[in-house]
Amino acid sequence: MNIVKFVFNPIQENTYLLWDESRECIIIDAGNASAAENSRLTDFISEYDLKPVFVVNTHGHFDHLLGVNYLKQRYGVKFALSSKDEYLRSMAKASCAMFGLDIDIEVPQIDIDLDTVECISFGNTELKVIKTPGHTPGGVSLYEPISGHIFTGDTLFRESIGRTDLPGGDYSSLINSILKNLIPLGDNTIIYPGHSDKSTIGHESLYNPFVVEALNGEINY
Ligand SMILES: [Zn+2]
Repeated sequence: MNIVKFVFNPIQENTYLLWDESRECIIIDAGNASAAENSRLTDFISEYDLKPVFVVNTHGHFDHLLGVNYLKQRYGVKFALSSKDEYLRSMAKASCAMFGLDIDIEVPQIDIDLDTVECISFGNTELKVIKTPGHTPGGVSLYEPISGHIFTGDTLFRESIGRTDLPGGDYSSLINSILKNLIPLGDNTIIYPGHSDKSTIGHESLYNPFVVEALNGEINY
């Protein structure tokens, strides 16, 4: 599986493009928010002769879905997101304004409810949908077990965790998601988060202060 990261929009959100030998591809968390960012993504897709089959989201925050409608219209692909994050649609414009952004956001309809499917497939590749609520109620991580890659959205970052002070966030759920659903994947699993740099489960078990204090039983959650 091939992975390319784009950093899009003023929130510096990570958009991932994944493809395999079939040349089918998916876009995870399409945050492209300008004509220049749209072109960076679609030029790459054209140059590598890729065929988009889905746009998939780890969660429903606006900075992760600014480019979804554009890709749906351009490629006619379906959009996958947990219906538990549906409530964020109605808040997207207000959230954008809260972050001081003047972006005319069109929030896409959900075509595939990630709360009801176990995996998302493209080409010869299958991504397991692992529920990781906490940052948002419908948050998921997308895991490719053969290569050991996982896309964690804003659940787990390099040496940090996602915010839980936004509407629908829940700290206890977030820590439970990380400890029960991510840490057991093993130290060599590579994490691709929704912001900042990639990491591994092993690194986070040792150096992420939020994970370490939970693993050591130093906090109640
Ligand atoms: Zn988020």
